[in-house]
Amino acid sequence: MQWLPHSGANSGTTSDTCARLRAARMAACALAACIAIAGCTHVHPHYDPTRAHHTPSGFRNNYLDHFFTGSFWAWQWQRWRQGLPKPPASVEEMQPVPANLSWLQQNRSEPAATWIGHATVLLQAGGLNILTDPMLSERASPVSWAGPKRKTPPALALTDLPRIDVVIVSHNHYDHLDLPTLKALNTQAGGPPLFLVPLGVGDWLRRHGISHFTQLDWWQSLPVHGVRLHCVPVQHWSARGLFDRFETLWSGWVIETEDERRLKIFFTGDTGYSRDFADITQRFGAMDFAMIPIGAYEPRWFMRHQHVDPAEAVQIHLDLRARRSLGIHWGAFELTDEPLDDPPRALRQALQARGVDPQDFVTLRPGVTLQFGHFIQPAALTQP
Ligand SMILES: [Zn+2]
Ligand SMILES: [Zn+2]
Repeated sequence: MQWLPHSGANSGTTSDTCARLRAARMAACALAACIAIAGCTHVHPHYDPTRAHHTPSGFRNNYLDHFFTGSFWAWQWQRWRQGLPKPPASVEEMQPVPANLSWLQQNRSEPAATWIGHATVLLQAGGLNILTDPMLSERASPVSWAGPKRKTPPALALTDLPRIDVVIVSHNHYDHLDLPTLKALNTQAGGPPLFLVPLGVGDWLRRHGISHFTQLDWWQSLPVHGVRLHCVPVQHWSARGLFDRFETLWSGWVIETEDERRLKIFFTGDTGYSRDFADITQRFGAMDFAMIPIGAYEPRWFMRHQHVDPAEAVQIHLDLRARRSLGIHWGAFELTDEPLDDPPRALRQALQARGVDPQDFVTLRPGVTLQFGHFIQPAALTQP
């Protein structure tokens, strides 16, 4: 459709031009109204008015009325003017080391977590291989040619992984829900894993040809071969595009093994700090192991409601009464203003400030396996 007249012989009279401009404005207003009305009248298929975090169009956080603390464009402008993020002073702590693949392939008995990079962890517990927020692609972006690009490669390739039993996903942001990785896992040898996702994300999986999933609401759980997985509230948001904010749910996960070890493990991909963690501890008691994000936190005026900083991550570790925590969600993508190597340094300072033993909340180089209760470099791992 041609909205405005061209100049020249066929451009018509001044009154014609005004009329066409008015018509164009009216059409634009009508289009905007349609979008707004469509947004207001769309009721998501999982809406349950008896649940406080449900809204007709999606979901909301438990302890936050107004989410966004400032303009995204103001942040981008400030970022550009100040030349942020600055490059990391050292990349050593974020460089992958070769994982002990044969041990990981065979391990079904030792509880272990191998950090693959960003929020992707291979968790081996209760006899299952569980993969968190699988993201092995080059960019965290809707397109393959632009958007945040990996600064460090994943420690393991898809072909290095043991057969995955369960994939857990925290929310639908691109650095956590990566379609190429999910599709590859869906066709792994031995059959697809069970994809365990928050409400609404399963509908998205179905639209992309992935059908072996269960989608859960906060505080719902599912038993899977001797492990019970619980979907729990954290403070974040969701969106894949411009018009779908808050439409699908976001969550953390508690993994309880029902073997003699009775392990309780916590995972969240992204979260701001909230009372949700005290609520989780009230329900489940102390955690044996927690995976807590420590990166993507500057500037605080923009990020504080959606991403914790390392000091708040330490508070979550304390709220969860976690025996051992692992700092994730750093070192792979430059998503925010702090240098890529800042989170572990800031974590160590925060632990010291709170009097927490640095061995209780660690960071690993990608590829290193942490066996709960003791810290082992890959070279020291023995064959089971
Ligand atoms: Zn996110
Ligand atoms: Zn994230």
